[in-house]
Amino acid sequence: MPSRTVDAIVLGAGIVGVSAALHLQARGSSVAIVDRLGEEGAETSAGNTGVIQSEAVLPYGFPRNLREIALAALNRDPRAHIRYGALPSIAPALCRYFQASTPARMDQTAKAMAALVGAASAEHRKFAQAAGAGALLRGGGWIKVFRSARSEDSVHAEIEELKPYGVRPALLDRAALIALEPHVSEAALGGAHFAEPLTTPDPQRLTRSYAALFVRRGGRLEKGDALSLAQSGAAWTVATEAGPLTAKQAVVALGAWSDEVTRAFGLRLPFFVKRGYHMHYEAKGNAGLKRPVLDLEKGYAVTPMAQGLRLTTGAEFARRDDPPSSAHLDRLEPFGREMFPLGPRKDAAPWLGRRPCLPDMRPIVGPFPGRPGLWLDFAHHHLGLTLGPVSGRLIAEMISGETPVVDPAPFRAERFA
Ligand SMILES: Cc1cc2nc3c(=O)[nH]c(=O)nc-3n(C[C@H](O)[C@H](O)[C@H](O)COP(=O)(O)OP(=O)(O)OC[C@H]3O[C@@H](n4cnc5c(N)ncnc54)[C@H](O)[C@@H]3O)c2cc1C
Repeated sequence: MPSRTVDAIVLGAGIVGVSAALHLQARGSSVAIVDRLGEEGAETSAGNTGVIQSEAVLPYGFPRNLREIALAALNRDPRAHIRYGALPSIAPALCRYFQASTPARMDQTAKAMAALVGAASAEHRKFAQAAGAGALLRGGGWIKVFRSARSEDSVHAEIEELKPYGVRPALLDRAALIALEPHVSEAALGGAHFAEPLTTPDPQRLTRSYAALFVRRGGRLEKGDALSLAQSGAAWTVATEAGPLTAKQAVVALGAWSDEVTRAFGLRLPFFVKRGYHMHYEAKGNAGLKRPVLDLEKGYAVTPMAQGLRLTTGAEFARRDDPPSSAHLDRLEPFGREMFPLGPRKDAAPWLGRRPCLPDMRPIVGPFPGRPGLWLDFAHHHLGLTLGPVSGRLIAEMISGETPVVDPAPFRAERFA
């Protein structure tokens, strides 16, 4: 079958790939998205907490304090869950995560991320408006609640740490919390309200509405395996069900599967995944929530979604392809029931998603070293929904030779050389 040609191929149809494709298309390129599922937003971009975290300057570092490390190692801290059988495989990545989580290095990441997260909401608004999906972006922000003096102290500490970045959440006492969210139980003593971030009641529909815009503007979505990517002279070819597709530029935006392609071209990265689950619940009676609420101490969130109240878990440390387990969700559900008006479960089994991570908690957005025309846009860890559109803009600007929206240096792959 003769190869068809486009200007750019984007590998991966999650929020990150769809966003990169839209930005390339806006710069006049003909673009095809290739995904092995042949549909968009069907993996991690489907089931997340739905917060466009424009406040998320401070990275999720590995704990540094011995007590916290011991509790996490013993699976006594519900914010994380370790699959012990996976430890021999994932221990090297966890060690690198620990080493990269010194205060000085986390501070470097915070400075780099401030620019990127600061531009995130504006990019979503532009896409949503053009896609006619404004109703999928919701105002009202989100809330982190505390249930003890210890978690209240950590809220105060976070508020102080955020000040230099101009992020100023409102501290809520119990009365102020109840005024915003009347159905949060007395287990919550108060909280911090991040009023600016947008949230979505359906992250998958949001990604799909952006993909529909891409198709309306002439883009193609094809089913194919990114592992078939091959360099042919100055071009890149990938096999799709409709036949081979060739382009001068190819962007790897495969989320948790990105390292399979980078390894095939000789780039080994300290890549790992933090898996996470969700479950939908009916709301009890007429109760409900107006916005996502995070139970800070226990490390899970409950979000009012189109499908019901969605409880999302923190990190499960496991191999990417380990079979799903309900252990982490089962540990968290009693805390959720204590705090929120959760009725019966609505899903037959928990949904599993995979956050693609690098130890310094920064994505890679930039060129593949030494492979002209091959570009990388992945490892958006806890923030892929937030950062998809703005990192799509950044990669499209780099490919087109424009002045980038933020300094790309902290996001280059070479930092792991
Ligand atoms: C429980 C949970 C809660 C979260 N909450 C939030 C939140 O509130 N806010 C936020 O910003 N982020 C959140 N995240 C993170 C966010 O969901 C991810 O960072 C984001 O979805 C990653 O998007 P992606 O496009 O990189 O990957 P994905 O959405 O996983 O897409 C990757 C795509 O690559 C395709 N693919 C894989 N291998 C191949 C192959 N060989 N060939 C072709 N295609 C292939 C897949 O089919 C898939 O479509 C959360 C994550 C989890 C798990």
